[in-house]
Amino acid sequence: MSNVVTETIQKNAKDELSHSREINWMKVLFQIQITLSALCAFKFILYDSYWATIWFAILVMFLGHVGVAAGAHRLWAHQSYQANGLLRFFLMICQTLSGTGSIYDWVRWHRLHHKHYNTDLDPYNSTRGWFFAHSHGAVLALSPAQQRALKNIDMSDIEDDELVMFQKKWYIPMYLIITLLLPINAPAEYWGENLYSSVFILGWFRCAVNLNLSALIHSAIIIWGLKPGEKYPCDTNLVFILNKTNWISYHYIAPWDYKTSEFGQYGSDTISKFIQICEVLDCASVLKTIDSGTVRKALTASVLEKRNITECLLELCDYSPKTPTFY
Ligand SMILES: [Zn+2]
Repeated sequence: MSNVVTETIQKNAKDELSHSREINWMKVLFQIQITLSALCAFKFILYDSYWATIWFAILVMFLGHVGVAAGAHRLWAHQSYQANGLLRFFLMICQTLSGTGSIYDWVRWHRLHHKHYNTDLDPYNSTRGWFFAHSHGAVLALSPAQQRALKNIDMSDIEDDELVMFQKKWYIPMYLIITLLLPINAPAEYWGENLYSSVFILGWFRCAVNLNLSALIHSAIIIWGLKPGEKYPCDTNLVFILNKTNWISYHYIAPWDYKTSEFGQYGSDTISKFIQICEVLDCASVLKTIDSGTVRKALTASVLEKRNITECLLELCDYSPKTPTFY
């Protein structure tokens, strides 16, 4: 009996320290299958499809990207603006179209990523290189230490969101119908597209593009977040945020700023414009951002008082409801 207790204590102690991550072979096989199928889709795109199918695929990919960037990322993960019921429903359907997992899981892993940015607890730790941040980290199961950290992620706002919890509960049938069946069926049904072309273009190719766009939210910092000569993003260099020039690093300092684009220039990207149009249409409100004067004041306070820049920014920004400090 005492041996069992000792073994349990030793196992628990090992788990306490373990940062090793097992490979999730189902995810690996899915990644390989979808990548190879997406490459095969070029044959259909180039030689055996209607232009209507190509334009329809671009439209559905764009809607999927809106669902991830404006929905899962800026609305649900960071609360960077508020949306009415109609917009939330539209974004939930768009996010389902993207095939990138449920909003609940996306937000949970993304908050874990922000809270433990570039440490062993970060599932997309970008100090391990672009491939790890983009793909490798996503196909590994969480380590025991990460699982414990995941339990401490505050998801209370998401758990109170009936729409997100409905999608979480019914994600598999919704994935089969909204992500795959309807987009694949439309070209064959409405303009007589070859079924194989429809499956490869609207199925595998489109899902592969949306999955990679979603993955770039975690790995783009490696490509666009660096200045020439820097090995890793310079977290201690605060000067760049004055002009928001290093916009992708800026996101990790002020994640609640709705203008921080996933790709493109700060404030002038498609998703920021989409949110602004939604505000004009009375579908979005309380768009959170920071003017340069406030950034300057926060930067001065951070340097003089040797305090965390995010803390200083949150003190100076008066949001309602207050954004939690870690996302
Ligand atoms: Zn983020």
